Amino acid sequence: MKIIAIGRNYVDHARELNNPVPVEPVVFLKPETALVKGNKPFFLPDFSSEIHYEAEIVLKIGKVGKNIAEEFAYRYYDELTVGIDFTARDIQRQAKEKGLPWEKAKAFDHSAPVGRFIPISSLQDPKSFSFGLDINNIRVQSGRTDDMIFSFDQLVSYVSRFFTLQMGDLIFTGTPAGVGQVHRNDRLVADIEGTVLLDFVVK
Ligand code: MG
Repeated sequence: MKIIAIGRNYVDHARELNNPVPVEPVVFLKPETALVKGNKPFFLPDFSSEIHYEAEIVLKIGKVGKNIAEEFAYRYYDELTVGIDFTARDIQRQAKEKGLPWEKAKAFDHSAPVGRFIPISSLQDPKSFSFGLDINNIRVQSGRTDDMIFSFDQLVSYVSRFFTLQMGDLIFTGTPAGVGQVHRNDRLVADIEGTVLLDFVVK
């Protein structure tokens, strides 16, 4: 399986990092070794002194597809959850300055914890719902999927032009504003519409 991630999909987050608002999706990949399931602790890596959290809605692909039309994209994902796109911001900054790829900053081991998946059919409105992240019981990010620049269907259609989507692939759909650094012993709790789906500690 592979993890496809979208950058800068919320205007307020693009602005907080002084990035331009994209006219087409910003796409990068994380390998399977980035994935963490089951609320296991996240261990701060030794190569960065600035690991940031980015809470994001994560889609799970349920059907093989290539060049998927936007109008049929909804048929290719049936479950979602909330996940964290951990980012070594110091390393990403160096890469950006030099125009180099982001992999060391974005795709390192355990950089993609995901919560418990729920059926999309369990949401009242699959196109419009809230999600967020608490750290040590303080709300640090609140998002609404209405505020995405590119919708789930647009993203699935777009990425499938470049990558064949296979069952079990995950798509991280971008983070709203409020990203920041994590520290040892932080407890991260993320929810969709108030239902906690992810709950783990930083070690
Ligand atoms: Mg992200």
